[in-house]
Amino acid sequence: MQNRSTGHETVTKHVSNAGHENQPKQIEPMSSNTILLVEDEPEIRELLSFSLGRAGFQVWESPSAEDALQRLDGTLPGLLILDWMLPGMSGIDLARRLRRDPLTAEIPIIMLTARGEETDKLKSFDSGVDDYVTKPFSPRELIARVKALLRRTGTPESGLVDHGPLRLDLNAHQLTIHGKPVALGPTEFRLLEHFMNHPGRAFDRSQLLDRVWGRSVYVEERTVDVHILRLRKVLQPFGLQHLVQTVRGVGYRYLQPE
Ligand code: CA
Repeated sequence: MQNRSTGHETVTKHVSNAGHENQPKQIEPMSSNTILLVEDEPEIRELLSFSLGRAGFQVWESPSAEDALQRLDGTLPGLLILDWMLPGMSGIDLARRLRRDPLTAEIPIIMLTARGEETDKLKSFDSGVDDYVTKPFSPRELIARVKALLRRTGTPESGLVDHGPLRLDLNAHQLTIHGKPVALGPTEFRLLEHFMNHPGRAFDRSQLLDRVWGRSVYVEERTVDVHILRLRKVLQPFGLQHLVQTVRGVGYRYLQPE
């Protein structure tokens, strides 16, 4: 996910939710092990959903691009499987739209298409699609492509992110430090997952809210500080609180440990 330039970052306004500050709404976890499947044909959707589920992925299903956009407003999947021919907005148009938005620009996309012509393939890559699979295909072939793409874009197929003493198990939703399981709240988990996927990079509070909480959730920016404090507290007994750094005038940055 690191090689795609997304240009400037937009800053999203997060409106305060009076009386509910520091209490982020319950949202679905944004895990890199999650796949959003956008397909209007119920039979294909069910077949793929079943096969991907058996391969260890968590699958969200959308019957249309419009429905997918709504879902993406609050949650970010690790990968998108997108049918080309959809009622309403086409898969290509959805892909282009996602690529233009800094929040969704980095999500890997596999396009499903019944068209095999060269120009269509080129068009598909032009839209920022990472890979395409021509119908008819076997679920096994698609899963192989999904795994290959996740490998290429840096998302571990195993669901394990290892950084020195830290191990994040995305499937079990478990953090271990020096092999010891450590209790972590769901928000702190997503925050740490985001940091571990982007080591060394500074994020301002607005960006962290967008990427960890989701855009449809309205919380104050200082909520981020609260959860950063909690995350540091979890790391502190291991002497690792310095991994989450304050970047003056910007926000926060995670340092990958040796
Ligand atoms: Ca279709």
